[in-house]
Amino acid sequence: MNEFTQRPAGHRDTIAVHCGEKRWMGSITTPIDYTSTFVFKDVAEMVSFANGEIDHYEYGRYGNPTRQAAELKLAALEGAERCVLFDCGMSAVSATILSYCNQGQHIIITDDAYKQTLAMVKRVMPRFGISCTVVPMGDYEAMEKAVTPSTVLIISESPTNPYLNIADIDEIVRIARAHSVLSVIDSTFATPYNSRPLERGVDIVIQSATKYLAGHNDVLAGAAFGSDKATEPIYQWRRMTGGVADPMSCYLLIRGLKTFGMRMERLNSTAMQIAQFLEKQPQIRRVYYPGLPSHRHFQLASRQMNGFGAVVTFEINGNLEQTLKFLDGLKLCMLGPSLGGPETLVTHPALNSYYNISREERYKLGIIDELVRLSVGLEDPRDIIADLHLGFANMR
Ligand SMILES: *Cc1c(COP(=O)(O)O)cnc(C)c1O
Repeated sequence: MNEFTQRPAGHRDTIAVHCGEKRWMGSITTPIDYTSTFVFKDVAEMVSFANGEIDHYEYGRYGNPTRQAAELKLAALEGAERCVLFDCGMSAVSATILSYCNQGQHIIITDDAYKQTLAMVKRVMPRFGISCTVVPMGDYEAMEKAVTPSTVLIISESPTNPYLNIADIDEIVRIARAHSVLSVIDSTFATPYNSRPLERGVDIVIQSATKYLAGHNDVLAGAAFGSDKATEPIYQWRRMTGGVADPMSCYLLIRGLKTFGMRMERLNSTAMQIAQFLEKQPQIRRVYYPGLPSHRHFQLASRQMNGFGAVVTFEINGNLEQTLKFLDGLKLCMLGPSLGGPETLVTHPALNSYYNISREERYKLGIIDELVRLSVGLEDPRDIIADLHLGFANMR
């Protein structure tokens, strides 16, 4: 079944265009294989397949050519031996956790991980007898101290939401290896364009491909990456329990990835311009962007990343009312969750993601009323800046 284009010799952008395509019948684009089942031409072929002598697709949950094409392209971009593609990022997260942990075992997770990942580890896994220790992001002493003989996974993320904290991946790898624990990094905010955790020795990388990888705000997808060995339990878990990305989503992902490099280059550059612009405005109290020297992890980010991504978080120099007026004054930037698409999106973390907890609890997590998160899109940076001025004007 060697009908996929292999890793071409070349650089990332060439890989993004050409790798993992199924050029069936001369079609330059990969066909969308809408089929649930795959038939054998005769009993002999079925028997050869059963004996493992030939490659053949069998059933959609086990494999699909469009999905395999997307997986090959993604694996090449992330620098992984294998990519296991799912129907969304949380399916990749949950399959990784569930396929690796047994009753009585223990997980370490950093405290500003994605809200649903944290909720799963803290609230759901204990129901199955799997405990956790939540350690402060950036405290590697606490992380190492938290390791017990039953620890299986160290889960972290980089950059994190909404403060764009950067995990010291080398430190996490050192701790994980010293104690024979598996390291897992959710690299969604970085993408393989800006960070390469597998090259630094991380065992499993997770991506919500919904964001920058698919890149067009039109599809949900997620993936786990790593060596064949590290991803085998995750792959087997998906075979059993599902959560597979459907062929249309896979096609959209393949299509979106062809422009991955140029989108990321542009997003990195626009976000940097906007972060620098915001830092100079009297209406802004503070900007959080790992590419600014004022960010607590600027040094680490500069050492570890090729670019700083497209999320810029800031505090309005005012109160809640003025912050909401700022948001209502925006015309181009749309109010909504998610990130990584062509459209600039703006969220108010206090109202968007933390509406179900008290103000006091929210403040303990650092989610203050004046906090705004901007997910920069592909528009002309001048128009985004003009729109921010409209927001400021509406505060008066
Ligand atoms: C969005 C996101 C997820 C979840 O991905 P879905 O595709 O929405 O399931 C996980 N981690 C991070 C960091 C995310 O931003």
